[in-house]
Amino acid sequence: MNYKISRRAASLSPSLTLAIDSKAKQMKADGLDVVGFGAGEPDFDTPQHIKDACSKALAAGFTKYTPAAGIPELRAAIADKHKRENGLTYKPSQVIVSCGGKHSCFNVIFATCEEGDEVIIPAPYWLSYPEMVKMAGAKPVIVETTDKTEFKLTPDALRQAITPRTRLFVLNSPSNPTGSVYTPDELKALGDICVEKNVLIMSDEIYEHLLYDGATTRSVASFSPAHFEHTIIVHGFAKAWSMTGWRLGWCAAPEPIAKAIDAVQSHSTSNPTSFAQKGAVAALTGPQDHLPLWLAEFNKRRTFAWNKINSIPGLSCVNAKGAFYLFPNIAKTGLKSADFCAKLLEVEKVAAVPGVAFGADDYIRLSYATSMANIEKGLERIERFCQGLVK
Ligand SMILES: *Cc1c(COP(=O)(O)O)cnc(C)c1O
Repeated sequence: MNYKISRRAASLSPSLTLAIDSKAKQMKADGLDVVGFGAGEPDFDTPQHIKDACSKALAAGFTKYTPAAGIPELRAAIADKHKRENGLTYKPSQVIVSCGGKHSCFNVIFATCEEGDEVIIPAPYWLSYPEMVKMAGAKPVIVETTDKTEFKLTPDALRQAITPRTRLFVLNSPSNPTGSVYTPDELKALGDICVEKNVLIMSDEIYEHLLYDGATTRSVASFSPAHFEHTIIVHGFAKAWSMTGWRLGWCAAPEPIAKAIDAVQSHSTSNPTSFAQKGAVAALTGPQDHLPLWLAEFNKRRTFAWNKINSIPGLSCVNAKGAFYLFPNIAKTGLKSADFCAKLLEVEKVAAVPGVAFGADDYIRLSYATSMANIEKGLERIERFCQGLVK
């Protein structure tokens, strides 16, 4: 049978991260001692009080449809969070709860972009952004950055990339895959240009709480009413509350955009899971004391890994102060990233994600959302691997 695949679906690249991950999992299943640096999720459990709130809702029969945009209680708790932590005033009607931060990104792009529109995405980028833009029929405009600017887009580079067709600028700080964090001043400078040129910003702030070494961040929406009107915040529960499998995220947007997203969602997924939403209310309104403990642990691993990587001939790594990733430069090894990662997995049984998946072929992504013992063992192996490459 000769199946016709739609132009949109056929234009997508399958996820390279998932391919490496499944190979590593297969090797593990075959009894091999594989060290995985591929994790895109915290290795901590969801805090107990969040699980309890969900179990309680389930037991009480909170198992039916909710409003498509989420339960009023959760939308209000999210609006409160933005007021309290970011100084931003959203009405609950401007908050749309979706099935994960990824789904929120998709909704935002789908609701604002179409054929003929350009979307500026700085590389290295989270690999789903360009594919989502293509699915919406719009064109991703990739602007490269390197470790020389800590993978940060300069205001000049943004200005040069903007054309009359630019609809959206995708900003992700702290960043997946680089762990880079823009300073408030740098964010304001980028926001100023978007306001001046009337470009919307999709600000993916999902790693907002994962900061180290005294780094601070600020929502780009918070600099002025004009910045607020040009920004759509994407956020979620996956990272700071370790709720990846719950599939819950949100966006906070100007009212007309929120309305459009609500309509899109009401005809696609409808509401996110009812009882999971009750857990999310507890995540936002309950104690946050898990977070300092997680941050201390992440920071210990981050500091160790960063020092170790920089001691390995052939590798260098900028000091990334957010999320849970390091993004070492491998150019001196003479290998491109896919080759590097394939050989590393083959020879040393270490799984890392090739930078080419994120639009940056001279780098690899290492996640430190894994135990210190794994990190020590894995980096020893990477060191041995690089010694074989760099003469
Ligand atoms: C993890 C992540 C998300 C959201 O993930 P969900 O599991 O869909 O909530 C969004 N953006 C970035 C950059 C991420 O790394």
